[in-house]
Amino acid sequence: VASRWNAGWEGTSEVYTAAQVEAVLENSDVEIVGETAEVFTCLCPYHGNTDTAAFAVNKRNGTYICFNPACGRSGNLEGLVMSLQNVGVYQAKRIIMRQRRAGGSSFQDRLKEILADEPLPAFPQDIIYRLHSQLWKTPHALEYMHDRGFEDDTLSYFEVGYSNAYDKRLGRDKDMITVPMHDYQGNPVGLVGRWASHTEKIFRNSDKLPKKETLFNLHRARKVGGTVIIVEATFDAMRIHQAGFPGVVAVLGGHISPWHIAQLNRYFDTVIIMTDYDDWQYYPNCKKCGRKCKGHRPGRDLGNQIVEQLRNKKMRWAVTDEGAVFPREQKDACSITDEEIRTMLRNVIPNFKYQQLPLASRHNPCYN
Ligand SMILES: [Zn+2]
Ligand SMILES: [Zn+2]
Repeated sequence: VASRWNAGWEGTSEVYTAAQVEAVLENSDVEIVGETAEVFTCLCPYHGNTDTAAFAVNKRNGTYICFNPACGRSGNLEGLVMSLQNVGVYQAKRIIMRQRRAGGSSFQDRLKEILADEPLPAFPQDIIYRLHSQLWKTPHALEYMHDRGFEDDTLSYFEVGYSNAYDKRLGRDKDMITVPMHDYQGNPVGLVGRWASHTEKIFRNSDKLPKKETLFNLHRARKVGGTVIIVEATFDAMRIHQAGFPGVVAVLGGHISPWHIAQLNRYFDTVIIMTDYDDWQYYPNCKKCGRKCKGHRPGRDLGNQIVEQLRNKKMRWAVTDEGAVFPREQKDACSITDEEIRTMLRNVIPNFKYQQLPLASRHNPCYN
């Protein structure tokens, strides 16, 4: 059983997305000068590297190395952030986590997404069943989900599972909640995983999860039709479903792809944005603002991107009132109560009105 499971997660040393690594490098003032499929090539921040890039950072696991023999620095992404930003290990972890939703994709990626029309590789349904049954037999995992506000019906409906299979990267067993992901027709294509812990924020997706080619819960939401609510994470979407709104999808990884836009266009006429309300992020040498970053809230940026790309739809934003997106200074839908979710969805406002509110982050340089 363990070997089957591990086979499904072969090569899951990927803890970061390329966009996240890129954002962390920008945030640490490391100058990226090129990229290959595997690495970002950069000017080494540890020696006087001004012309030929000597520094390579792996896009999947964040390890870096300087090829200048006189320097030869190497290490992992946390170590890089610790030394360049002069912070401790926990602060470094937080800085990296904050870039998790960093968007952006290369031109090559976008082209591939548009051209891809082959069916997505199937993920075995029997693994989903087995993990789901494992959840009910694992009291601390169930308790974690109950703490996060999930009812048993919701856990059943979404076939939420639990895995304690060995994690190669960590060198210890997983302690992971799994949520199955499907293509738009409802065929399973993979799993989204996160640790059953309030303190350890570890995420693992199944190998080659086609995040850009499907939206979480799209196969169910498109049957509801009409209005769709857009959130960022599986947990947000499951909580909104539980609050009584089954027409909800999650854009995993905070990046909206041309494929996503095409599907939203096809199945829905009204789109409600309920993306995260992150703290301001400042990127030295920001790709959008240049040298002096004016600041971004990535989840709000994502919402604006969706609005920009769906111009012929009715666009709405979920807010609590004119002063707050989420109540109680919360940042996402899975951190508030079902009743608070319902209040926000009762209070949706049209895009033009949202854009007039101070909380709309209008001075975001990209979209004003
Ligand atoms: Zn160096
Ligand atoms: Zn910026």
